[in-house]
Parts: sequence; structure tokens; C-alpha cells
Amino acid sequence: MEDTIAAIASAPGEGGIGIVRISGDRSFEIMKQIFQTVDNKKETQIVNRRLTYGHIIDHERNHQVVDEVMAVFMKGPHTYTTEDVVEIDCHGSMISLRNILALVLRRGARLAEKGEFTKRAFLNGRIDLVQAEAVIDLVRSKTDRSFDAAMDQMNGRLSQKIRQVRKDLMDLLALIIVHLDYPEEDLEEIAYHSLTDRFKTIMDEIRELLADADTGRMLREGVGITIVGKPNVGKSSLMNAMLRESRAIVTEIPGTTRDTIEEGIQIRGIPIRLTDTAGIRQTDDLVEQMGISRSREAVKGADLILFLLDGSRPLSKEDRQIGDGLEGKSTLILINKSDLKQIVTEEEALALVPEGEVMATSMNLGQGIRQIEDRVEEFVWGGRISPSDSVLVTNVRHKELLSLALDSIVDAAAMAESKEALDFIEVDVRRGWELLGQITGDSVTDDLIGEVFSRFCLGK
Ligand code: GDP
Repeated sequence: MEDTIAAIASAPGEGGIGIVRISGDRSFEIMKQIFQTVDNKKETQIVNRRLTYGHIIDHERNHQVVDEVMAVFMKGPHTYTTEDVVEIDCHGSMISLRNILALVLRRGARLAEKGEFTKRAFLNGRIDLVQAEAVIDLVRSKTDRSFDAAMDQMNGRLSQKIRQVRKDLMDLLALIIVHLDYPEEDLEEIAYHSLTDRFKTIMDEIRELLADADTGRMLREGVGITIVGKPNVGKSSLMNAMLRESRAIVTEIPGTTRDTIEEGIQIRGIPIRLTDTAGIRQTDDLVEQMGISRSREAVKGADLILFLLDGSRPLSKEDRQIGDGLEGKSTLILINKSDLKQIVTEEEALALVPEGEVMATSMNLGQGIRQIEDRVEEFVWGGRISPSDSVLVTNVRHKELLSLALDSIVDAAAMAESKEALDFIEVDVRRGWELLGQITGDSVTDDLIGEVFSRFCLGK
């Protein structure tokens, strides 16, 4: 890790300011070779951590001025990477950025790989893996809530919690090892007794983290909401109303087809992937068939279904068929067109999806949109009022490791319950401890590190 790395840290394209970032032992030396304060008192003017005005000069090209910049040198270890870091704020043109970067590379820096600055922060021990991953989430977050969740993790709240559980497991492991080393029978009796209690505490702690993982995942990846209903019930009208309400379309989701339309929006800071489906109908028409299978997929992948009915007409076979396909799905049944004379009753509607919840709406009058949003919000936070109390697991990788660790502990606890040999129990406890360590990066492999950081952008 001796080499000094450099990259353009600002987003590609035009901007007011562009940033070239350098990190490593040679940062300052490189800066001195290319940066000059305007009154030319040179390096005496460069003070640690003070932004300095000057020019980037290409001495090999006739001392040509490359750009007018503000530059700062930050001596390690209290920097992003813990190494010596230089940042050059130049004009936000790709020409200027590229020329400055080229100059820096000519002076001996190497082009940074994706995420390499953050990877160095991790490898140098300033942040753990959860915090590093939170940096990507923070950069990518498109809504207030996902930003908050990422910020929370970057500040180490999740890591602290996981370290606590790991510590509890380590204490338990120590207890087991003591008894393994001194296997007198009465000691074992005590061991099993206290083991069971401790296992319970640890399982509760992991379960608590997992309980909110769905909320976390939805905040990170967006809540999948799919609008279904037979033709003419008002699906497109609802889609448009929700898009209007949310004002900003936060992402454009590729793969929109004529059968299903997907948009990324936000509702009260929660990212939503909203999908409108073509009518789910039994038909012989091949093109229509493809639409139907896509609709079914959209239902399968959804967190929440908005099932529209036309309240002004009797329910039909089609409504029932669609309802049948929603079994086991969280569903809001919307009896639409409430501005017209109503024929469909709440009971009839509920009979279509018994676990569902019924609401009356009118897209023509714009009624019900706010209430739908209330429900979405409640759904995501699972009824909790203050989401900031809990530490959210947002990352699928973390969730999977937590589940695996829980499995190990559940096995160990069952063995303790039936008083099986301590060395068997020890294996499972150790495994749980290691799995949790993979979340924070306390026990990791090079493959894992490579995999995590490959998802970063350049210059981060
Ligand atoms: P889709 O086929 O399910 O996407 O339905 P559309 O959104 O295209 O709506 C079908 C028809 O129903 C259009 O003429 C809409 O104007 C009308 N419509 C939608 N919502 C309402 C409503 O709440 N009240 C009334 N009266 N008409 C509605």
C-alpha cells in the first residue's frame, strides 16, 4: 500500500467546482511539484489543512498554467484514508480535471481503483466494513430516509451493536472452554444452566436486529409497490396521481415495457419503486400473455400491493382471479370511483383478499392519495413511531450473515438444552461469532473485501 493514488472525486460532467484527490506518502511532494501560490512564495505558503489559492503549473510544458485552483494538504493520520491527502479544487470542467489528474499521475501517483480511498480507510483501521459500505449507500441515497439510515451506519451504531453481540458470544465461548478444560461433572451442570440463559439473550439481540431488516432493505432499495386491477378501474389514474403527489421522480428505472411501467418516486422521504401492471387477465393472445406473466412477476417481487376495484360496478370474475393471485401479499384494496354511485361493499371487497385492508378512493376527486401514503409509511416503519430509535440493518449481506449467525446460535442453544457435549456447542458458537465478524469486517477474506469495494464509484 505504499503507492500514492489519485482520482477525480467529483461527479463526471460540468460543475462549478471539480475535485482531484490524492492520497499516500507522496501526496505533498506531488502537490509541491505542480501547485504554486500566485505570489510565488511556494511551499512556505502551504499550511497543513489550510485551503490555499494558487495555480496548477505544468513545468514540462513551458510552465503553462493548467488551471486556477484552491488546494489543500492534509497531513495524516486524521484524514479520510488516514494517509497524507491532497485535494485540488479546480474549475468543474472535464478538461481541467483530466489535465490535472494526468499531471498528478505523471508525477508518480497511480490511478485509484473504484472505492480505493474508502478501502484504505478500512484497511488502515479507521472505519469498519459496515461503515465503508454505508459510504456507498450515502453517496447513492436518493431520499432523506435512506440517507439517514446510511448516516447512522456510517457513524457506527450498527457496528457497535454487532460488536456487543460478538463480545457476549466470546464471553460464552470462554465459559465453554473453561469447562472443557476442567470437565468435572458438577461444573458442567452449572455450565448448561447458565449457557441456556445467555443463549437466549444473544438470540434476542440478533432477532431484534433482524426484525427491522425489512424496513432497512426497503429504505435502501426502495419499497416495491405494485398497482393491480382489471382494465379501466383507474390504475393509470392512481399511478399519475402518486407521481404528481411525490413531485420528483427520483430514479428512472430501466426495463419499462408496454405491459408494466415502473417509476422510482419518494413518499415522505421513503424511496418507492412504483409499478403499474397491465390488466391481469386470462387470454389466448400471446402478447397479452407476456404482459400477464410480467404482471405476476411484478406482484411476486412487490412489498405492498395496491389492488384497485371499480366501486361503481359489480365485482367480476376478473377481480376474483386477481384477488386469488395476491394470497400472502400485503394488500391495500382500493374501492375506486367513490364519486360515482357505489355498488361494491367493503365486505365484498375484503372477501377478495381476506388479509387485506380496504379503503375508498376517487382518482377523479383526488381522494384517498394522502391516506394511501399514510398506509405506506406505516407499512414501512411497521407501526413504530420513531424509527430513529432502532439501528437499521439495510444491507442484504448483513441480513444474510445475521440470519446464518442466528441459525448457529439456535443450534447451539438446542444442544445446550439437551445437554450435549460442550465441544459440539463450542463449534456452533464459534461459527456464529465468525459470521458476525464478517459483517463488521473483523473477520474477512480478501475476496469479500474485493467484492464489497468493487461496488464503489471512482474517486470514493
Ligand atoms: P386503468 O385501465 O386501470 O389504468 O384505468 P384508467 O386510469 O385508465 O381509468 C379508466 C377510466 O376510469 C378513465 O376514463 C378514468 O378517467 C376513469 N376513472 C379513474 N378513476 C376514476 C374515479 O375515481 N372516478 C371516476 N368517476 N372515474 C375514474
